[in-house]
Amino acid sequence: MRDTLVINCGSSSLKFALIRSATQETLASGLAEKLFEPEPVLTVKHAGAKETVKLSGQGHSIAMQGILDALNTRGLLSEVANVGHRVVHGGEFFKSATVINEKVLEAIEQCIPLAPLHNPANLLGIQSAMEAFPDLPHVAVFDTAFHQTMPEHAYRYAVPSSLYREHGVRRYGFHGTSHQYVTGRAAELLGKPLADTCLISAHLGNGCSITAVKGGKSVDTSMGMTPLEGLVMGTRSGDIDPNLHQFMAQALNLNVDQVTDLLNKKSGLLGLSERSNDMRELEEARQAGHAGATLAIEVFCYRLARYVAAMAVPLGRIDALIFTGGIGENSRFVRENTLRHLGIFGFELDAERNQSMVGGPSGQITTDRGPVALVVGTNEELMIALQTEKVLS
Ligand code: AMP
Repeated sequence: MRDTLVINCGSSSLKFALIRSATQETLASGLAEKLFEPEPVLTVKHAGAKETVKLSGQGHSIAMQGILDALNTRGLLSEVANVGHRVVHGGEFFKSATVINEKVLEAIEQCIPLAPLHNPANLLGIQSAMEAFPDLPHVAVFDTAFHQTMPEHAYRYAVPSSLYREHGVRRYGFHGTSHQYVTGRAAELLGKPLADTCLISAHLGNGCSITAVKGGKSVDTSMGMTPLEGLVMGTRSGDIDPNLHQFMAQALNLNVDQVTDLLNKKSGLLGLSERSNDMRELEEARQAGHAGATLAIEVFCYRLARYVAAMAVPLGRIDALIFTGGIGENSRFVRENTLRHLGIFGFELDAERNQSMVGGPSGQITTDRGPVALVVGTNEELMIALQTEKVLS
């Protein structure tokens, strides 16, 4: 058996999963976190058990060494054949996953201005994994790559063209690995070749984005140059009037960084509800009559429905609308409420089917009369492993 170690590295955390793609099994997974706090820890899930241990020091290299030791003591290390890395921004350099070499590292570095929070952390992850596994091939899988098939009229902003030419200012889109995975699964569920499908994929988690996928290719998506554009998210505003920046700067006496922080970390469901960024908690608060929670969920669903309608434009027809991510896979209320706004397309919710789709299963939640809405569980780690192996073969 040849297994793939999937690495998803953040600025202070390092997630891993060991995937056996021949059987689509996750053999082990875990999270090293609080990497720069006094006591960094590593949690590992394997064979139905979960164990948390203290790491021997701070930083990404020690975390990676901890993961290596954890795999070794569980007898899993010898099967690791390659390493797949999630990289958030590949700019216009990468249209698909790629084997990492010096030139690739340089290109990922060049994309740092487009993703200043994510790409440096992704590079740290690659560096420490290359130290830990110097003899294995390493592959980068980009969140943006799937969207490189968007036509220019979908990815350009109506700002001076020099900003695009000189600074790469355009829409890139994110969550590509998830959108690609669930649309592939949806085609299987519909029993159609992917090449003949027109699908809308709504990835609704802490971050949310929606993509129009025609014949297996992304033709439009809601996130833009950064993951702030588009839908309402846990703490991100999604679309706003761009003049709000100037208004907030003046009215609240904030600088650009503070305005950006407010839109990324204090807005979205959290800002609207004044309660939480967590949909599960908001649903409970709504049931108890919390006005802010009720409003936040209403805005979330309405904006989502509007974006579904927008994504129908490049598709011409909708074979299926897919709900995925923590909210999409679990929130019966969000799915029901969103479809209620989409009467114009003829979606007809099957209440029983919708009730049954929580915590794992994939399937249809509409009746057999109108267009289909599906719940499909996403699996970004599996997709990264599959792409890693595809590139290497
Ligand atoms: P993710 O980022 O994909 O892990 O998704 C996180 C989001 O999914 C959070 O807003 C959670 O509250 C939401 N979520 C998870 N389980 C449920 C559930 N049973 N009902 C409603 N929302 C849920």
